[in-house]
Amino acid sequence: VVDITEKKVAERRVLELLEDLRSFSHSISHDLKAPLRALQSYAEAVLEDYGEDLPEGALELVQRISGTAQKMAKLIEDILTYTRITGSKPELKRIELKEVLSEILSYFGEEIRSSGAKVEVKEPLPPVLADETLLRLVLLNLISNALKYRHPERRPEIEVKAESNDWVTFWIKDNGIGIDGEFQERIFRMFERLHGEESYPGTGAGLAIAKRAAERMGGSIGVASEPGKGSSFWIKLRRGEGNIEGG
Ligand code: ADP
Repeated sequence: VVDITEKKVAERRVLELLEDLRSFSHSISHDLKAPLRALQSYAEAVLEDYGEDLPEGALELVQRISGTAQKMAKLIEDILTYTRITGSKPELKRIELKEVLSEILSYFGEEIRSSGAKVEVKEPLPPVLADETLLRLVLLNLISNALKYRHPERRPEIEVKAESNDWVTFWIKDNGIGIDGEFQERIFRMFERLHGEESYPGTGAGLAIAKRAAERMGGSIGVASEPGKGSSFWIKLRRGEGNIEGG
């Protein structure tokens, strides 16, 4: 009896520590936003007001300050998103996957047009039991990656299809650069990146956010991929029938 009680106390303590850590990283990230925004606007003001008078070397440095500040702002936004979805309770309801997907695809409309990407959505896409915000985050990050990690010598092709029984599994498949087998699990960790910042800029948070979001909805996410050929990310969620509260 004593053992069980001690174990419970220890477990509660770990949960409290995790919650402290989450709220600590949330408030630090939040506090960093304002000074970073200031830094960015100072750099932009220098570029705007004095850009033409600056020697080339100085101009490049100020441009780098501005770019780095922008990158940090994106990183902070990603950390805030991650801590937010960890701390808030998902609202699970029946959602038409098809509708959310087409909303996300039209968000990337310009990028799809300019890259000449071919996007094929195979019907039917069944309804899923999901939290709308979390589902959007999953799709946003996966579609964004499918467009970003494209093969330099091929027109990007993206295919979305689904299969369903009690659960719905849907795939977002690309013909991009692919991912080596040994890294296929690691890429879902926060800040884990495989490809160079120069050709493929990013924060390394997108898949960690997508995984956490899928798990918060009681689902899962994974990838099958072949380097040089492409990747197929899958997401498994409960099929959307009635409305229930999630936790
Ligand atoms: P980011 O794109 O900001 O680096 P992600 O967490 O979304 O962060 O992805 C982590 C890493 O996984 C990427 O840096 C990339 O190396 C790899 N990756 C993700 N999606 C794909 C994809 N569709 N094709 C090839 N590599 C990918």
